[in-house]
Amino acid sequence: MNRFRRLLCRLFAGVVLAAPAAGADDGLEFQGVWRQGGMIIGRVAPMARVTFDRKSVPVSPDGHFVVGLGRDAPATMTLIVTDAMGPRHYRFDVERRSYAVQRVDGVPESTVTPPPEVMDRIRREQELVDRARAVDSPRRDFLAGFSRPLDGPITGVYGSLRIYNGVPKNPHFGLDIAAPTGTLVRAPAPGVVRLAQPDLYFSGGTLIVDHGQGLSSSFIHLSAILVKEGDELARGDPIARVGATGRATGPHLDWRMNWFDVRLDPALALQYFPPAPPSAGERTALRLRP
Ligand SMILES: [Zn+2]
Repeated sequence: MNRFRRLLCRLFAGVVLAAPAAGADDGLEFQGVWRQGGMIIGRVAPMARVTFDRKSVPVSPDGHFVVGLGRDAPATMTLIVTDAMGPRHYRFDVERRSYAVQRVDGVPESTVTPPPEVMDRIRREQELVDRARAVDSPRRDFLAGFSRPLDGPITGVYGSLRIYNGVPKNPHFGLDIAAPTGTLVRAPAPGVVRLAQPDLYFSGGTLIVDHGQGLSSSFIHLSAILVKEGDELARGDPIARVGATGRATGPHLDWRMNWFDVRLDPALALQYFPPAPPSAGERTALRLRP
């Protein structure tokens, strides 16, 4: 049994399985939950091509891929697998969620209604963030599963509508974990650092980690960043310290996940993709790490 199958078995509880339109044993395997904000890890025969939501999906040489469902993903979505036998269409029902409204008062007024002179800065910074999240690297760190980057009470959830100082703004896409300023943030999964910026206008100290094939984590409002762009991370490595920089009322970690520009819910990643035990080969590799 290969590692992926073992992972599938271990995670069987609560996992929605595909109802393939074609034959039962046609090579598509996946795990995860078809719910708004959810991520799906799949496997197809090597060399097969995958299309999801009309986007071409990166597939690793051994057939692994990851896709993500946005906050307002439609009621059904289609995954198309194309191999030597031609294209096969899989249609999935997506679970809808209802999102809370959260009022946040006491953030700096300049972060709710920014003065016109900072608009260029905001646009430049958004480009940096978009570019970091657009990286399509052949890494497969997402297969290792996800653990919490720190302990603490959850004070904000994915998807809620946010009203800052009485002004309705974009939904909140992160998982907020409250902790004192200076608390260590640890890598929730392996990856490579794509962006390390100490002071962005809205998000303050901001770190983006690439987990491969378009899947990334962002950590914001940090008081300190302990790694630099290009650094390779193992799960549990200290990467930053909690802060209250940018549009924040108090110290907390805001952890976000993206599949390219699609916003995902880190709470679902924790629930459906707990860390996988390293295989024998990986243990050897870990031992050999300098
Ligand atoms: Zn937040």
